[in-house]
Amino acid sequence: HRLFFALWPDAPARAALVRLAHEIAHHGHGKAPREDNLHVTLAFLGAVAADRLGALERVGRAAAACIAPFGLSLERIGGTGFGIAWLSSDGVPTSLAELHAALAAGLAREGFPTERRMFRPHLTLARHCARAVHRGAVEPVRWTVERLTLVESTLAPGGSRYRNLVEWPLGATPEPASRPPPPTPRAGV
Ligand code: ATP
Ligand code: MG
Repeated sequence: HRLFFALWPDAPARAALVRLAHEIAHHGHGKAPREDNLHVTLAFLGAVAADRLGALERVGRAAAACIAPFGLSLERIGGTGFGIAWLSSDGVPTSLAELHAALAAGLAREGFPTERRMFRPHLTLARHCARAVHRGAVEPVRWTVERLTLVESTLAPGGSRYRNLVEWPLGATPEPASRPPPPTPRAGV
């Protein structure tokens, strides 16, 4: 399984991102991602054996549980020399930095390799751009991040296909270690 942890935009943010991606791809003579592929990657895992999925579920659940939902704003166009344009943020919200750090710590604890480079959230808007992208500020795209998702990617000639494997709500109270016994049903009630 080719896996990564991701954040998905909500529907209004996705609509704004689709428009922006098409505009940027058009100007750069590149290609916008599939509409339902627009995401922010928090941690890329690469190929993971099926028997390690349980470990990833523990990592994801624990990281998501300790961070409350937070607002994310993306407003800066950037790019690489390899024809990619992305949308990034001017600053990293504290909650996002904490979520990323919690994931990285959990992954390290479970023996997964983690990236050393500093985390900068970004969302790919265009690929295969033949012309340099215009860098700079755009109208911010904002949404409230309420979920962390473990996604499977299948590489395909027309572009990768993604499938959500597990989703965790942010800030969920962890399961108590022991639960009170359920009330005993009484006869006749
Ligand atoms: P495609 O590879 O078909 O262009 P994609 O890059 O969206 O599509 P994947 O390669 O499966 O699909 O990548 C899934 C996510 O993980 C993307 O956000 C991608 O940027 C990120 N990613 C892929 N490879 C790496 C890597 N080696 N290091 C860090 N992030 C990566
Ligand atoms: Mg890729």
